[in-house]
Amino acid sequence: MRKRINIYLMAIASVAILVTMLLVTVVYYDVFKKQVFEDLRTYTQVLKMFHPEEMMSGQAVQTDSALRVTLIAENGVVLYDTEVDAKSLDNHGGRPEIVEAARTGEGTIVRTSPTFNKSTFYYAARMENGIILRTSKEADGMVSIFLGALPMILLMAGALFAVCVFLARYLTKRLIVPIDQLAKQLDTNEEVKIYKELQPFVQTIRQQHENILQSARIRQDFTANVSHELKTPLTSISGYAELIESGMADEKDVQRFVVEIHKNSKRLLTLINDIIRLSELDVIGEETQYEQLNLSEIARTCVEMLQMNAEKHQVKIQFLGENCFVTANKEMMEELLYNLCDNAIRYNKKGGTVTVSVREETKDIVLAVQDTGIGISKEHQERIFERFYRVDKSRSKSTGGTGLGLAIVKHIIASHKARLELISEPGEGTTMLVYFKK
Ligand code: ADP
Repeated sequence: MRKRINIYLMAIASVAILVTMLLVTVVYYDVFKKQVFEDLRTYTQVLKMFHPEEMMSGQAVQTDSALRVTLIAENGVVLYDTEVDAKSLDNHGGRPEIVEAARTGEGTIVRTSPTFNKSTFYYAARMENGIILRTSKEADGMVSIFLGALPMILLMAGALFAVCVFLARYLTKRLIVPIDQLAKQLDTNEEVKIYKELQPFVQTIRQQHENILQSARIRQDFTANVSHELKTPLTSISGYAELIESGMADEKDVQRFVVEIHKNSKRLLTLINDIIRLSELDVIGEETQYEQLNLSEIARTCVEMLQMNAEKHQVKIQFLGENCFVTANKEMMEELLYNLCDNAIRYNKKGGTVTVSVREETKDIVLAVQDTGIGISKEHQERIFERFYRVDKSRSKSTGGTGLGLAIVKHIIASHKARLELISEPGEGTTMLVYFKK
């Protein structure tokens, strides 16, 4: 990139130098032309003071001067010429400078030789007696002037080019250095001096970099947690099986161990299911099907399904509300409701209640799962949505929790662009509110 910027800058400089040189030559030639005509006019004014006879006798002009003087009669016949015998010259009546002078009083023209290296400047003026006095001078043409000035032009172009190369190097360095520095110091929070235009770019890169680092950290933590969570039930299963295998356990113990093995393998399955579900939700994309669903119907079905479970925990579960429709994925809605209701039962008190309701507000459809359970203190409220985060690990485990339920809930809410609100008071109960945009 550095090389390319350098090349671009130098190419621009070369074109600019070339164009400038050409323009300077054109402008210079124009000034030169004006000067030559000005000289010719002055000569002519002086000559006009002489009588034609005096001129013809050679008194007015020295024949060896670079100036050529011609006298032309009104009918175009050449009367006198300082260089050639007038008689040998053809009728000049049709020459543009003569026609113009006869009409307006003065006429000019430049005749350039076919090779462009010589030009003849003609100035014609009408005298009072009608005779036209023409002076002319031969001078270098545009090409000659250009060629004459070429060494100087090349020298100047070379010097300019050298300055441009230096400037291009300097500017490229100024452009690139902050970027280089930034690349080296992306990890550190050290301030790098950057120009204003780079600021938004840097902010985005820094943000993305931080996000990448954070998600890598989360993934690392998650892997470590998964291994740990899987190891515990597996160690129990292996331990109980070993005891049975050794034949040291009596029949009563074997019965107890089998129950434990069953419980732990069930736990292992739940854990694996939740982990798989989470990774599925991680890659969920456009193929997810969203449809118009009656959220109340799904909630009612979920409440009915959990009735037995609630009774087991001596908790009353009920549904309240009218029919409300949301655009959502059915499977995910069932999961969301199941996880929230299951938690509301498991973290409840004996004789407590769980109320599930769906209602319509001006902008949203609101699903509320309210319990009269143990509640969650402020410091845990933010964190319970993290994977494997539990307030009371033993209670979670003893009731079959994996610590992943609310992480799944958070995912589902995000993919539906819904919003979650948590209201909880330790000892009083918890309300989870999910707002779906209408
Ligand atoms: P778990 O499988 O442990 O229930 P979750 O992700 O569903 O995992 O919940 C994380 C933690 O949040 C739980 O361990 C529990 O401490 C707390 N929690 C969730 N729901 C409630 C609730 N309704 N009342 C009290 N605490 C809750």
